[in-house]
Amino acid sequence: MQYKVTVVGAGNVGATTAQRIAEAELADVVMVDVLADLATGKALDMMEAAPVLGFNAKISGGGDYAPTAGSDVCVVTSGLARKPGMSRDDLLAKNTDIIREVTTQLVKYSPDTIIIMVTNPLDAMCEVARRVSGFPRERIIGMAGVLDAARMRWFIADALKISVQDIDAFVLGGHGDTMVPLPRYATVNGIPLPQLLAADKIEAINARTRSGGAEIVNYYKQGSAYYAPSAAVLDMVAAILHDKKKILPCAVYLNGEYGLKDLFVGVPALLGRKGMEKVIELDLSADEKAQLQKSADAVHELVTALPKF
Ligand code: NAD
Repeated sequence: MQYKVTVVGAGNVGATTAQRIAEAELADVVMVDVLADLATGKALDMMEAAPVLGFNAKISGGGDYAPTAGSDVCVVTSGLARKPGMSRDDLLAKNTDIIREVTTQLVKYSPDTIIIMVTNPLDAMCEVARRVSGFPRERIIGMAGVLDAARMRWFIADALKISVQDIDAFVLGGHGDTMVPLPRYATVNGIPLPQLLAADKIEAINARTRSGGAEIVNYYKQGSAYYAPSAAVLDMVAAILHDKKKILPCAVYLNGEYGLKDLFVGVPALLGRKGMEKVIELDLSADEKAQLQKSADAVHELVTALPKF
């Protein structure tokens, strides 16, 4: 393949992302995990599907970073999930250590790469990768908004009993309870959502979108969502590698846009071959602005709680 994508973490999100990228013949994929045999085994299992499915991309896996050298895009999904008895701060400290180590290795072998962060807490882990890599903001992008918006789009399709294909929606803010679904900017083939669905039904969709991750965790009992998250990553990787100039909601390091500075927050961004090429500023109502500020405050609190390094 013309491109190489590294996926760090061969767990649920990482392995499914690798599978989607290879099956779409978007790039060759290198999976890295501290559980080296898990990454090797999953890569081999996927390659053994290639003759049946007929894809030509190569997937390899292991614990070593040397094979990741020269990656066009690196997707980071390595991390711990919160376990019973573990505080949010403990999780923050543990995943900070993991992202520090992983970013150092990625940058060593692929100094020109574009990093797509997936590990939670998302916005704070983007900041860790930014500090460690020293990359410009164009090359560190967090995946959250594409997933949150996809959930919202599905809930709209389900409520209206129509195809998912023509539904657009935007979700701004941090990746957590304070995210800001924007029904005013949701459309069905150009028709604004508020013209098609009653206000109380829209509010129910907003609320379900905010708790979309928790809804899946409640069903799975162990682990969290990965089919939709990996699809969201695929969309971002394809937009970058194919220089699509696609506007997607992403966690981006803001530089005064939306009145926010020096903080990763989810906003519409234009993705192309250089990574995050432009932040798109929407005209927000006073209420939407207040919600975005509250969400940014929550991200700021997490970033302030990051362990010093
Ligand atoms: P998982 O437990 O299935 O996989 C995580 C993998 O990371 C494991 O295989 C583990 O061995 C590996 N790992 C741990 N430390 C490592 C290190 N130092 N180097 C390399 N690999 C290491 O978890 P998952 O379901 O795949 O989720 C991964 C992360 O993505 C979690 O933090 C989760 O919260 C997050 N997530 C984010 C979103 C989002 O919207 N941003 C969506 C879904 C999941």
